[in-house]
Amino acid sequence: MSRRLAGRIRSQGALSVAEYMAACLFDPAEGVYTRADPLGRAGHFTTAPEISQMFGELLGLWAGACWQEQGSPSRCLLVELGPGRGTLMADALRALALLPSFLEAAEVVLVEASPVLRAAQQRVLAGHEVRWAETLDDLPEAPVFLLANEFFDALPIRQYVRTPEGWAERRIGQDDQERLQWGLGPRLPGSPPGLTPAKLAAPYGALVEACTAGETIAGEIGRRLRGSGGAALLIDYGYHPSAPGETLQALSGHRTVDPLAEPGTADLTAHVDFEALAAAASGAVAHGPVGQGALLQALGIDARAEALKAKATPQQAADVESALARLTAPDQMGRLFKALALTAEGAPVPPGFPV
Ligand code: SAH
Repeated sequence: MSRRLAGRIRSQGALSVAEYMAACLFDPAEGVYTRADPLGRAGHFTTAPEISQMFGELLGLWAGACWQEQGSPSRCLLVELGPGRGTLMADALRALALLPSFLEAAEVVLVEASPVLRAAQQRVLAGHEVRWAETLDDLPEAPVFLLANEFFDALPIRQYVRTPEGWAERRIGQDDQERLQWGLGPRLPGSPPGLTPAKLAAPYGALVEACTAGETIAGEIGRRLRGSGGAALLIDYGYHPSAPGETLQALSGHRTVDPLAEPGTADLTAHVDFEALAAAASGAVAHGPVGQGALLQALGIDARAEALKAKATPQQAADVESALARLTAPDQMGRLFKALALTAEGAPVPPGFPV
């Protein structure tokens, strides 16, 4: 990957951070997501659905409850963006056996770009009727109940620096030894597109990030919610309100590494700007974001943990307890991870969000 990036930079010039991220994550031959499964203990990072079945169960029931509150439409879509190993959806569908009428009404669609993870999802969801799509654009128009966990943080971002002479895009070039290095592109004639007011007002010297790909998808979600109804639940680590600052990070084998050090080996992510995402879902109403801990508690995770513990061995009960703490405690995932819900205007406020 390093050699191929070097060749590309030699012929085309320095890359934007978005081009670099897209190559590292989804290069057809050598991307982090195309080559192997990056999740779990043997991979680079562990996500909430991999920590406990409670996460997917509660999110599935959240979708079913939204469907009921919106009048139980006879046809709808249950969509997951970036379903990883399929764990969240498998747990969701198992819990939704409590609401068979929703399962009858819903076509289950997984939007997944990685062939390796698609294969994992096929295995985990073998007993269920599900189909795969490349993008949201491939879906029919119908009320859509959509879940996305740690999806938006994997989308390519661009970085810009505000200098006294104007804005410039941060780029990745190389030194004489073809080692990747940071640089700055030419001054832009105006401001970069799509920045929030807080980022546009950044002080000189500040770096800001913009995730156009995520905002385009949020726009499409908003358009569908407005047109056909439904609800979306987007959970990720991120910030609200919007603010300048660098959040791009690389993880290799669960350790933070230099984002330029291991292209194609380390996972690259950026924190999600929830204010920008909510604004991009134009016309949809944003609820929250609330902390992941607060959401899961409002959805009944404590009672679910008690029920699991009642049937568990002492070791399993201890595992449920530690998973509960990991998912909800403010110093673990409870506060840094946030949940944003989107609905059409006038739709009931989704469970777990302040009225
Ligand atoms: N939601 C899962 C996986 C998170 S990792 C979990 O919580 O465990 C990010 C997921 O998004 C992976 O499945 C990855 O392949 C997928 N992904 C990233 N960019 C994508 C894109 N542009 N289109 C579709 N899927 C994408």
